Amino acid sequence: MVGTQIDDRRWYGRFDKKEILAKTGGICACCGKQLTIDTMTIEHVIPISRGGLDGFSNTIPLCYDCNQLKKNTLYLPAWFYSAITGTPLLNQLNTMFTEWFKTVKDDFDIEMFPLVTPRANLEIAYMPKDMTRFRKKQKSKKGTPQTNILQWHYTGKDYMDEVQTVTGIDLREMRKRVGSIISDNNPPVAIYTCRKLTTNKILCMAAVAMDIQKKSAVISLEWSELPRMWQGSIHFSILELYYDIMRMCEYDIRSLMFAMPETEDNWRCLYMIMNESLPRMGNRIPRHMEAWVTTLRHSYTDAKYIALNMAIHTPEESRHMLEMENAYNMVEEAKKDLSKRIKEQNKQKGDT
Ligand SMILES: [Zn+2]
Repeated sequence: MVGTQIDDRRWYGRFDKKEILAKTGGICACCGKQLTIDTMTIEHVIPISRGGLDGFSNTIPLCYDCNQLKKNTLYLPAWFYSAITGTPLLNQLNTMFTEWFKTVKDDFDIEMFPLVTPRANLEIAYMPKDMTRFRKKQKSKKGTPQTNILQWHYTGKDYMDEVQTVTGIDLREMRKRVGSIISDNNPPVAIYTCRKLTTNKILCMAAVAMDIQKKSAVISLEWSELPRMWQGSIHFSILELYYDIMRMCEYDIRSLMFAMPETEDNWRCLYMIMNESLPRMGNRIPRHMEAWVTTLRHSYTDAKYIALNMAIHTPEESRHMLEMENAYNMVEEAKKDLSKRIKEQNKQKGDT
């Protein structure tokens, strides 16, 4: 059902177009360009071919270029319609999307589904050395449309050869290897590439695998030629996307591994993600989460990876963990207290 094209679009008159354009106050929901009834195109938030309705609530204005870029792909509204960030309209679209997603949840396959695609733009991705000055600049820019520079793409069959040539990685082997990190049952593995929009150059590749039965998932950054200043935030963007999918699908995933080849830059990235980016994610990450960094050597290639491991606990489990932690702390306190007393006693003995 997911891949079939049903062409039953209705014809939109000028009056309909005017009403749709008014939704965004006359701009393209994606790039923010000013539009007129003649230059706008009508976008179906959930493509009709994927079961979206051809009604007013499922439409939004896009410029021609952005509509071409989106085609039939499914995007999370929050990731794609960056020009309407923070508006009630975007919230509405997200709710609609979430409701719809529940209806296809069982068909969802991370490999076969021409998935929601994360979109990262320069404003999010650019991490200069001086964050304070950067934030100030960001504030003063408020309200102006963001320019998208980088974008994650789902890598379907059409792009496999290209990705293989650019990265020099055997994608079939890679899929097997990444899948085997979490499961023996050959779980589906989706490949994403991050490209620079102006040149279409591939800058980064990630593989994502999920095993619903085992409640585990892995994101593996297999290849990257990203400029240093973008690395941390681009890597983080795919982790964020993952959380959005999990949240939207209400998948019960308990363990997530975020792995990348062991390099000095990647160590830096992981620590940045763990100490700066994750804490800032607020309500988007599960509440009962435990995160730690490990290294692993993969049995197939002997390549060394570093991994950020995240275990998500149920409220009961985390209550239990908290109790354990409290008990542990009490024991530690008692130990300290005891050694202090012993020291004092010895000192007294020495004095007398
Ligand atoms: Zn546009």
